[in-house]
Amino acid sequence: MFIRTVAEDTSLDAFREEIRSFCETELPAEVRRKQSAGQHLEREEYDDWLKRLGAKGWLTGKWPAEHGGHGWSPEQHLIFSEELGRAGAPPIVPFGAVMAGPVIYTFGSEAQKQQHLPGIMKNDVWWCQGYSEPGAGSDLANLKTKAVRDGDDYIVNGQKIWTSQAHWADWIFCLVRTNSDGKKQQGISFLLIDMKTPGIEVRPIISIALGHHLNEVFFTDVRVPASNLIGEEGNGWTYAKFLLANERVGNVDIAKFEHYLDELRKLTANTHEGGRPLSEDPSFKRRIAELEVNLATVKALMADQLAATREHGGAPTMMGAAALKLRGTELQQSIMQANVDVLARYGLVYQTDALHAGWNGEAIGPEATAGLMYEHLYRRAATIYGGSSEIQKNIIAKGALGL
Ligand SMILES: Cc1cc2nc3c(=O)[nH]c(=O)nc-3n(C[C@H](O)[C@H](O)[C@H](O)COP(=O)(O)OP(=O)(O)OC[C@H]3O[C@@H](n4cnc5c(N)ncnc54)[C@H](O)[C@@H]3O)c2cc1C
Repeated sequence: MFIRTVAEDTSLDAFREEIRSFCETELPAEVRRKQSAGQHLEREEYDDWLKRLGAKGWLTGKWPAEHGGHGWSPEQHLIFSEELGRAGAPPIVPFGAVMAGPVIYTFGSEAQKQQHLPGIMKNDVWWCQGYSEPGAGSDLANLKTKAVRDGDDYIVNGQKIWTSQAHWADWIFCLVRTNSDGKKQQGISFLLIDMKTPGIEVRPIISIALGHHLNEVFFTDVRVPASNLIGEEGNGWTYAKFLLANERVGNVDIAKFEHYLDELRKLTANTHEGGRPLSEDPSFKRRIAELEVNLATVKALMADQLAATREHGGAPTMMGAAALKLRGTELQQSIMQANVDVLARYGLVYQTDALHAGWNGEAIGPEATAGLMYEHLYRRAATIYGGSSEIQKNIIAKGALGL
């Protein structure tokens, strides 16, 4: 168990310093300003920052060296996250570095590794995740999108839903049904699909936070080279579960927790009630202390999972990843709820115009209000995406009972 906090580990000081000074010099001022005001970033702004991290090999720092990573230790990975949070940097987009990449280097062909890994490491290529369908979320193996072999290609027909950032993505990794006989899981395959292929249509879904992250993706007679199949046909469920474990660890974004806990400290210091700042109010002091303790616990769980990933050759355990995802996403929601409680009446007004650069209206409440409300509303979904909390509890219960 990872008891000592990384902040106390002096052997890692030079590493921390390198990340910190990189963020100070390389994180564009406008991106930092937008992040701090809670404003939306354009794809180009993300891309610019992620490419800077990619040039250092830091997007994929924890990948094993043999696949082009730095083989970071759990402590290094946590320091990297802490420093990104401290700098107010945008989150790492996980679909390539956290999800597709490890599947490709673990189960993909040499040709697939050569084609895709460099683009993921440098953020030259954006990915999205085509798992969920109407009728196949928690019961993912129920998916119906079909891929039928036709010579050297598969012909794909069907629909995906809740596809985050599909409107920005160059490629999608997709679970498709290649066989409808027998056990549902056995007829699933894992395909990589170029989003520019004719027959793909992306339609937006506007979320509860009134932003456009989510999409539906429709496939009509989409011709995909059979060489884009990962591993063996019909074995996609194995790769899908491997990816889900990595995804669930990736769902726990320590940098964001640090950032929004910091926002909470600032808000309580600047919000007065009864003539004194809320930061001096015993109940808020206690609440922040509890969140800090919970964050230390989540970091410890995270370090355990990162260590297990190295030991188990690339994937955390399903049960450990489920426990981390459950605790981490609950914490994320608690941090945001505490921010909203401090905003109090200002949180009743949701100024979505303030989320866009160039808005010069008058903010109601503290400057960061709209951004905090956006994050609060959007992260209601944190206990749903990547597999809902109920599903994580089922995984933990089955693991604990040996079922
Ligand atoms: C913001 C957001 C982003 C997302 N991004 C992506 C993405 O990029 N790519 C992608 O493929 N998918 C994505 N998803 C989809 C996500 O993975 C699913 O929404 C999730 O798995 C739940 O599936 P569902 O929505 O079909 O709900 P359902 O499966 O219909 O579940 C409804 C409710 O029933 C409960 N339930 C279902 N089965 C059980 C059970 N066996 N035991 C106990 N309770 C159960 C669930 O916990 C939930 O509360 C995203 C979702 C959201 C909200």
